[in-house]
Amino acid sequence: MARRKRSSKSVKVAEEAYPYACCAVCGIALRPVLDVAHLDQDSANDAPDNLAFLCKTHHWMVDCGLYPIDAVKLLRDNWQRWNDAGKPIDHSLRMKDAGEKAGKTRRRRAAARKAVATRKANQEEEEAQGRGGD
Ligand SMILES: [Zn+2]
Repeated sequence: MARRKRSSKSVKVAEEAYPYACCAVCGIALRPVLDVAHLDQDSANDAPDNLAFLCKTHHWMVDCGLYPIDAVKLLRDNWQRWNDAGKPIDHSLRMKDAGEKAGKTRRRRAAARKAVATRKANQEEEEAQGRGGD
């Protein structure tokens, strides 16, 4: 029972300090999968700077020491940036051109592979002709 009270207080503090609730590491913004992590692993320390929303996987990884706490804080704060109009930055727009960019990259790579194959075929043909001429 006491544990529940403590965790609900940390949730309230985190929700006030970090209104854009998403995993600080991967950015998943599904509230049911998010924990409020105590970065110093002291569950009594509900100072906003000690709290971060993390998904279950990243909560576990942070608790295991696989991510430096300073990096988690930097990432956490990055998700809370606001635009000039005083609204939270819409992070969904960050990926809006990703599909188009990936398509361009695929087409460039296919063209490069074709060019390499053509060049190689031409070289082999020249070498064959060169040998034939000797
Ligand atoms: Zn995550």
